[in-house]
Amino acid sequence: MKWTEDRNALTTQEAGRGRKGVRAVSANADVQELRRKLGEVSDVHNAVALLQWDQETCMPPKGAEARSHQLATLSAIKHRLFTAESLGTLLRELYARSDRLDPGDAKLVEVTLYDYDRATKLPEDFVHTVAAEQSRALEVWVEARRVSDFALFRPNLNTLVQLARQKAEYFGYQESPYDALLEEFERGMTAAELNRIFGILAPEQSALVKRIVNAGQPDLPWLSGNWDESDQWDFSLRVLRDMGYDFEAGRQDRSVHPFSTCFDTRDVRVTTRLSEKALFSSLMSSMHEGGHALYMQGHAERDRRTFLCDAPSLGMHESQSRMWENMVGRSLPFWRHYLPVMRGYFPGRFDGVSPEDVYAAINLVQPSLIRVEADECTYNLHVIIRFELEVALIEGGLGVDEVPEAWNAKVNQYLGLHVPDDAHGCLQDIHWSHGAFGYFPTYALGNLYAAQLFETMLEQVPDLWGCVERADFAPVLAWLRDNIHVHGRRKLAHELVRDITGKDPAPDAYLAYLESKFGALYNLGP
Ligand code: ZN
Repeated sequence: MKWTEDRNALTTQEAGRGRKGVRAVSANADVQELRRKLGEVSDVHNAVALLQWDQETCMPPKGAEARSHQLATLSAIKHRLFTAESLGTLLRELYARSDRLDPGDAKLVEVTLYDYDRATKLPEDFVHTVAAEQSRALEVWVEARRVSDFALFRPNLNTLVQLARQKAEYFGYQESPYDALLEEFERGMTAAELNRIFGILAPEQSALVKRIVNAGQPDLPWLSGNWDESDQWDFSLRVLRDMGYDFEAGRQDRSVHPFSTCFDTRDVRVTTRLSEKALFSSLMSSMHEGGHALYMQGHAERDRRTFLCDAPSLGMHESQSRMWENMVGRSLPFWRHYLPVMRGYFPGRFDGVSPEDVYAAINLVQPSLIRVEADECTYNLHVIIRFELEVALIEGGLGVDEVPEAWNAKVNQYLGLHVPDDAHGCLQDIHWSHGAFGYFPTYALGNLYAAQLFETMLEQVPDLWGCVERADFAPVLAWLRDNIHVHGRRKLAHELVRDITGKDPAPDAYLAYLESKFGALYNLGP
């Protein structure tokens, strides 16, 4: 380490002297030095990700204790490497000379300096306090959820809300302290903007759900019974391969909670869950995680081993998974192709079943209490409930004591359901026990971005639905690669959406998509 910092001091001294040509050469040398340092940080970061992947997929139960030490040590090393003063100095010097850098390098410097400033804004003892509170809160939350008693978790939530407010003060904000927290997951978005978007979305989506509930449900006798897990597994691999997921640069494993992770653009992994009772659960998980994975396999070559090799926001990442899962995987053209394929995996089980029947089955709308089980029509409503509550908690309009009552009232308002207990209400999600305030809205933004981007893709890719019906996904993937994946973090999410679609992120495309799809499925009429 000592050697690294001395070397850096030397290059920055050199950079300060001499004529323009010399300066350009040394700026170039400094960019190389920056890339070398970022490469080290990325390596440690990706080693952490690999250990986490292993923990969820392969690790034997007795490995847990040692693993927590390994993860804590490596995370601390990563933090130390990334927040080193020498890196900050190098970044600031390069930033001051941005106009003389290659534009691609200037962007690398700008985004990394943004990350560096955020990473160094929180005092170290505050970070430790938060981490300790979070691990305590997580343990209490697990127990509180098990016995369905919010009162147990209340003191911990109270502490976490206080800490989140303090965190917002450290980061700074213009209008709402919530903005400072949201920034961590959806850079550039604000509570005011979300209030505006969700203010249009919530009543429209809620009204659509009510019309669907009144329309009655299709009968699906063929879907009951058990479905062989190894056949489900094989079918999901087939679809992933068709989507363009590169198995030479990735693999699929099984886990309790499906996820995707990336150690490099050439090593991007997905997991799926399997259940004999739920035929479509594994396929839809694979397509969802596959959407994330295609994004990660598609980042630019020059951005490898830097922090540009990522999405600009969680919402943008989620737009890719939801597009593949919902817009492609839950479409009728998709099932015109894949029902015959599926018959081969499950002989005799689809006799008398049409693509339209499968299409209806995987698009069933049923208001429910649990977010992770929600369908496309009700999902955003679950998110909006959480968003409204967390903004009020952080801004101080809602006391922690009032959370269960406020939660239950909103579930009744938006979904027309009665919450029987805290486990099916405000204790169901892990996010708040992690202190992750500002995370939920990214799920809904993912849906909105997906619909808006897909609308433009439909205009620009000739015969897109024909391609889907032939399982020829290459034109879809090529469009996503060129327009979205390759940019990594070089554009913010709303810039990307505006550049591609010509409009700011808005709920219109998503509402139109829902209305047209579910209006036809449920015969709702105009
Ligand atoms: Zn996702």
